[in-house]
Amino acid sequence: MNRLEEYNKKYGEYLIDKEGDYKCGKCKKIWLPTDADINRKAMMTYYKNCGVCRLYLYNKCIEYRNRET
Ligand SMILES: [Zn+2]
Repeated sequence: MNRLEEYNKKYGEYLIDKEGDYKCGKCKKIWLPTDADINRKAMMTYYKNCGVCRLYLYNKCIEYRNRET
């Protein structure tokens, strides 16, 4: 498998301007990404998860960190 195929396998579902709907990797709902949802680690793609799930995970993370201290 070459790098492009690997990239497509990993990000193909989330590529900006791809055909079809974007499905959230967590809640499996169809969602509409905006410019704010562009993955900063992979600028050609959107995040895997919808805004609601990302906020949820973010809060979980904070909660966890607060419990540690
Ligand atoms: Zn979601």
